[in-house]
Amino acid sequence: MNDNNDIFVDPWLKKAEKIASLPEDLLLACAYNLDITADIIEEAAFFRRTETSDELWITAGYISSIVQDIVDGTATPKDFEIKKLLGAGRVFALPKKGEPFFACLNLLDRLFRVRTGFYWPQKFLTGGILNKYAFEGLVGRIEHDLLENSQKAKETETEIIKVARDLGLSPNPTGKSPTQWFAGCPNKNHVLFIEARENLFFCGWCSRKGGIKELQAFVKERKEG
Ligand SMILES: [Zn+2]
Repeated sequence: MNDNNDIFVDPWLKKAEKIASLPEDLLLACAYNLDITADIIEEAAFFRRTETSDELWITAGYISSIVQDIVDGTATPKDFEIKKLLGAGRVFALPKKGEPFFACLNLLDRLFRVRTGFYWPQKFLTGGILNKYAFEGLVGRIEHDLLENSQKAKETETEIIKVARDLGLSPNPTGKSPTQWFAGCPNKNHVLFIEARENLFFCGWCSRKGGIKELQAFVKERKEG
């Protein structure tokens, strides 16, 4: 058994098996525009309650018309043509708990928070379990937390942040925690992360991590290479 409460976590749809169609019993949570940095796409989130678990499913792509048909009752989630979508699958499953509305809200909150910095829910499109008011309240709370964390990070800046700035890596708080920052990975088009309190950096793409000295050496190596 897993130590934590999560039964299943896959916010990037990396584990998603190739599915032929979505389950018919998914209930529309809501649909919204999603800013994926390079583009704006549409995404719909669906809630499903089984005997034991609460699940969140998503479909991404240009999906407005079918979502409207689902709202109108002339289509079901099973009618999505998976091949034409940018992504579709289950992103979370948690033990069944509480009112469906709050369970659904909690699942969407997790999804939006974990994708912060990469994907951002930009604009409400269609309501289901969650209406525009609930959606905007949720996004507003996350925005507020991000801002508050960023503010705290700036107030408690540590040595590695100054070093990263001097090295030209343009560090900025991620807002995900009061101590997490991101900065440009030297000579690359992706970001590395900095845990300010520990004075540590890590880049998952380059498999590099370390403290201030390692960061200075890393930048030097990239400049010389
Ligand atoms: Zn890197």
